[in-house]
Amino acid sequence: APATYPAPPQNVGSPPFSILVALFEKLQVERRQERRKRLIDSWFNHWREEKGYDLYPVLRLMLPQKDRERAVYGLKEKNLAKAYIKLIPLGMKDPDAIRLLNWKKPTDRDRSSGDFPTVLYEVVSKRSSVIEGSLTVDDLNELLDELAKNMGNKDVQSRVLQRVYNRSTPDEQRWIVRVILKDMQISVKETTIFAVFHPDAQDLYNTCSDLKKVAWELWDPSYRLNAADKAVQLFHAFAPMLCKRPTKKIEDTVKQMQGSNFFIEEKLDGERMQLHRRGNEYFYCSRKGKDYTYLYGKHIGAGSLTPFIDDAFDSRIDDIILDGEMLVWDPVSERNLPFGTLKTAALDRSKKEHNPRPCFKVFDLLHLNGQSLIHRSTEFRKKNLRACLSEIPGRIEFTAEYRGTTAGDIRSRMDEIMANRGEGLVIKHPASKYVLNGRNMDWIKVKPEYMDNLGETVDVLVVAGNYGSGKRGGGVSTLICAVLDDRIIGETENDLDEAKYSSFVRIGTGLSFADYVWIRSKPWKPWDPKNPPEFLQISKRGTEDKGDVYLEPEDSFLVKVKAAEVVPSDLYHLGFTMRFPRAIQIRDDLTVADCACANDVLVSMRTERKR
Ligand code: ATP
Repeated sequence: APATYPAPPQNVGSPPFSILVALFEKLQVERRQERRKRLIDSWFNHWREEKGYDLYPVLRLMLPQKDRERAVYGLKEKNLAKAYIKLIPLGMKDPDAIRLLNWKKPTDRDRSSGDFPTVLYEVVSKRSSVIEGSLTVDDLNELLDELAKNMGNKDVQSRVLQRVYNRSTPDEQRWIVRVILKDMQISVKETTIFAVFHPDAQDLYNTCSDLKKVAWELWDPSYRLNAADKAVQLFHAFAPMLCKRPTKKIEDTVKQMQGSNFFIEEKLDGERMQLHRRGNEYFYCSRKGKDYTYLYGKHIGAGSLTPFIDDAFDSRIDDIILDGEMLVWDPVSERNLPFGTLKTAALDRSKKEHNPRPCFKVFDLLHLNGQSLIHRSTEFRKKNLRACLSEIPGRIEFTAEYRGTTAGDIRSRMDEIMANRGEGLVIKHPASKYVLNGRNMDWIKVKPEYMDNLGETVDVLVVAGNYGSGKRGGGVSTLICAVLDDRIIGETENDLDEAKYSSFVRIGTGLSFADYVWIRSKPWKPWDPKNPPEFLQISKRGTEDKGDVYLEPEDSFLVKVKAAEVVPSDLYHLGFTMRFPRAIQIRDDLTVADCACANDVLVSMRTERKR
């Protein structure tokens, strides 16, 4: 077990916040990296000499995005604007109130629009009479604690901000608001701040995502961690290993694998998740260290996942840490989807009708029975992973995985994965160690080659849908899309009510579970095969463009679709369709009138062919 080091002795008093502001302002204008490091270093040392060795109160103000104790305030720009309007107070028609609320909009007179802290500074400096702030670093931390504790309670938060307003200068408030927004704009990377604070700080942070632990365990600059302290630890959120972005050519990825028999894994489009288990206790958390145990379940009697996966673990396992991606199994279409944004709602167990459920796709094993495995090879970890765990379909599964040695191997797996509506591949070197928070050439993403530039992107209208193979719950799972047929000339021109659409493509990839919840709530109408919707022209052959249900254009929406290429097909009315189509985004910012036209597609295709 890692040694526990005594917490730092208590600081003597707390200096005014203004001395930290002075540092921020110097950092903001200093361009040279070395100088910036020295500024921070001498500031930290000064603090240590004058105040003591506890730098946590300062680190959390410098790295607010890493502060887990004050995770959320519920105060983004809009709410901050409202609170300030109330506390100054400003009338709702006051130009400055309007400026605060519309901080994003650039106007001729506002140089600073686009940056909320600066807009706020300008509004406050016109009115504030505070010349010297009286908040200490500790005072500010207490006020911020109160803000966090009262998330959602606008009145209390407004009163706390009133104290900030009364006791600090406009300049200081600009920085305080940056702390609240968790975006400091001092152009110092967190790795730099960690490195100046202590040589092991980044390593320790990677194992636990816990700023307080870093500040307190490493308060003494002369103390060094040993290797065991830099390993993953049970029930601590580590920073997972990430993938390198795709190389220009697949051949370059193969080169990085140095002739090895590498792993080809399916790239999953869910949420990165780590699972820790000791005895009967579970812990789940995201890549950024957000604790999701409350959703998935702390023990076998709780949550949406834990009760169903307890049997997956070999009985000889006492404790284990797994790395993988969390997807959601959609019982309507009977496949795994990314969550999308409505995660909590989507997993709300009281909403039985959709009954979605999480499915954990595992690809790595980092800790087993008291031993960290991050220094072992990927090959070794994967072998042991399969020995420890058995799949429970739809609940906990291994990520699809193959071996290969050539670019050809990667390309043929890519075709397979894309045909199965996958999103890409990850190539892993079999000898690679697991590097916390690392992004090196040992893990490389591969996207289909067309995804970068050559691919076609079109905004098409959703006209009909098919149920999933499960036919349960009456939910749509595949979308039939069409383009406006502008090949028909004549009196219908410009009249969208009379417009005819031409079936073009069907898509069932790229949308999240949250998207489907939204899509399924649309006013779908049953499709009568003898009497298909009048606005839609369909092919004479096949079932590809025949729905179970359809949507009137005025009830429908556009979706941005990307594909490898457009190819001839007599299964769609247009006479062409897309190969490997994937929904990129629901275009709720566009209207039906923005739908792509038949001629656009045909023309762009011809120019593509000529190239
Ligand atoms: P990144 O997450 O790398 O910063 P990004 O947010 O653009 O980039 P994508 O390119 O869509 O994400 O997905 C890549 C990420 O997905 C990986 O970094 C990793 O977190 C996760 N991932 C998905 N499948 C795998 C896999 N089989 N092995 C490792 N990581 C995977």
